[in-house]
Amino acid sequence: MSLDDAAEELASTLGVDKTEVKADLEKLVSYSVPMDEAKQSLRRKYGDGGPSGGGTPSETDIADITPESGNVTVSARVLTVGKRSIQYEGDEQIIFEGELADESGRISYTAWNDFSLSSGDTITAGNAGVREWDGEPELNLGGSTTVTVREDPLEVPYPVGGERDLIELEAGDRGRTIEVRVLDVERRTIDGRDGETEILSGEVGDETTRLPFTDWAPHDELTEGASVRLADVYVDEFRGVPSVNVTEFSSVAPVAAVDVSDSATELSVREAVASGGVYDVLLTGNVIEVRDGSGLIQRCPECGRVVQNDQCRTHGQVDPEDDLRVKAILDDGTDTVTAILDRELTAEVYGGTLEDALEHARDEMNRDVVADRIATRLEGRAYRVRGSLSVDEYGANLNASEFAESDADPEARAAAFLAEVKG
Ligand SMILES: [Zn+2]
Repeated sequence: MSLDDAAEELASTLGVDKTEVKADLEKLVSYSVPMDEAKQSLRRKYGDGGPSGGGTPSETDIADITPESGNVTVSARVLTVGKRSIQYEGDEQIIFEGELADESGRISYTAWNDFSLSSGDTITAGNAGVREWDGEPELNLGGSTTVTVREDPLEVPYPVGGERDLIELEAGDRGRTIEVRVLDVERRTIDGRDGETEILSGEVGDETTRLPFTDWAPHDELTEGASVRLADVYVDEFRGVPSVNVTEFSSVAPVAAVDVSDSATELSVREAVASGGVYDVLLTGNVIEVRDGSGLIQRCPECGRVVQNDQCRTHGQVDPEDDLRVKAILDDGTDTVTAILDRELTAEVYGGTLEDALEHARDEMNRDVVADRIATRLEGRAYRVRGSLSVDEYGANLNASEFAESDADPEARAAAFLAEVKG
């Protein structure tokens, strides 16, 4: 059904002006609200027989808002405000996102107009739309919403403002402010939506943890070792790990040296996997198997993917490069992950360099001897593995930065391991 037909139908069933309904529909659809939901929301707005026949709905407590609430009026404290630019049908649109709270609860919002919101403000948002986002209700403040700032601040049981430690950041967070040290940064050219664009990517850290970041509007202040306050950043997820995004709307200011945590978060394998990904984690368990694809492997020189029989899935016939890798299944009795060791760590557990491994394979006329030796050394022994855990359609993979034999009571671990194998 076209938008025009939908407007016609709604206008006649609700007995209101078609132009007005159509304008509302267009707006909702432009906010990515699905057509059925948009129609439903207009039926509520024009009041299918409601006592006032439409108009501004009465005030609702945030805790009572559900995805089916239709339009609501809330009085709330603005907890956070994040400014962001999105693409809609080829046009750039500036939106504001964050959280609002009252005594009863808090809710995410998206403002499609600039209502000059600041964190700490107490506002009444009249006729705000409600839509479902990821199973939760979210407020849409748009053209038909009125926002008035109130004099007396509403006390709410939530932190006002976006200041957070890195460990507290979660994908979906908007308008966050962090104080961090830049641990690593590189300038890269990517194919952005406006052609080739320069970005910065790297790693930041504070006392609680370290996280990857991307700066989409390269700020010169973000140099290795710099301690900075980054205001108005947002957080998304890359392979299950929270990632900090700095934009043209973020501000960067130097601060006194920020201490950076040197220790990784220590978790059981089950906890780590359940978290959906951890950037810097320490897991201890037994290597129960060195998987296929370990030892001497070959990679596509173009994309680095592992190739077999000189065939890359993307680049076809290639002249592959030799490399060393280990994929080891680590089991701590609660769950398993695949620990992936790069060339350097693999050389340590193999006890020789890539050149040594190639010579070994030539001598034995068999490339598998390298993986075999690694398996003999690792299988059945306990290791402490530090790295970045991603959990996605490729499984739970821990890209190891450190891999060391665990000295924690090897006999007890061996017994637990045997019990596991027999169990
Ligand atoms: Zn390739």
